[in-house]
Amino acid sequence: MMGKRIVGNWKMNGHAAALGEARDIADGVRDVGPQVKVMLCPPATLIERMAGLAAGTPLLIGGQDCHASPSGAHTGDISAQMLADAGASAVILGHSERRADHHESDGAVKAKAEAAARAGLTAIICVGESEAERDAGEALAVVEARLDGSVPQLDGSGLVIAYEPVWAIGTGKTPTVDDIATMHHHIRGWLTGHFGAGGSEIAILYGGSMKPANAAEILSIADVDGGLIGGASLKAADFLAIVSAAAL
Ligand code: PEP
Repeated sequence: MMGKRIVGNWKMNGHAAALGEARDIADGVRDVGPQVKVMLCPPATLIERMAGLAAGTPLLIGGQDCHASPSGAHTGDISAQMLADAGASAVILGHSERRADHHESDGAVKAKAEAAARAGLTAIICVGESEAERDAGEALAVVEARLDGSVPQLDGSGLVIAYEPVWAIGTGKTPTVDDIATMHHHIRGWLTGHFGAGGSEIAILYGGSMKPANAAEILSIADVDGGLIGGASLKAADFLAIVSAAAL
């Protein structure tokens, strides 16, 4: 059986002063065991320092975005190779905030995922529906379209999918257990249709207002292979409580 993955997304939060939280997380996951993989994705400015303090612990470090090219005239951007060079082993791609703030299309996300693979990074590809799309009964179709457009034709070994309903991110709202189960089952079907048997090995994370109080319930749903955590990843105590729920 696949273990769980708990990935923290710090978004545009955290200066050097926040590294104490990361140190506490690195210390707190020392004894978690191989069945739970734990990762923090800080802003790019903190990746190298966080990778340094995580060295020798099971804590993994990831980026939050990358450019599709390895280098070049792209002021302000960061390549997958640069993330790897700084100590990242994965990168979040196609987060709804980037799709909204930077008009990232499915095609752009796919190109970034291919770049991540070339750099040896795991690509954590985010997909999810808006509240209006869910209310209109279109959630499954929208997520399927996001998968069709964003997931590259690779062997799948370096891929993770994060189902993040846009309306649940940072709002305190979560879908029902049934709705999460239905969506993850649907995504699993898409993955096995696309990648064959290998599709059952690709982790599907849930993201959107996961916190210590709801983590155990959400993480026990079939085909929920872990969580992508925003707000609750900024405090070591909250994040470690979610990690503990994943280890149950
Ligand atoms: C996210 O941004 O990926 C996320 C899940 O945020 P939050 O946990 O704060 O809803």
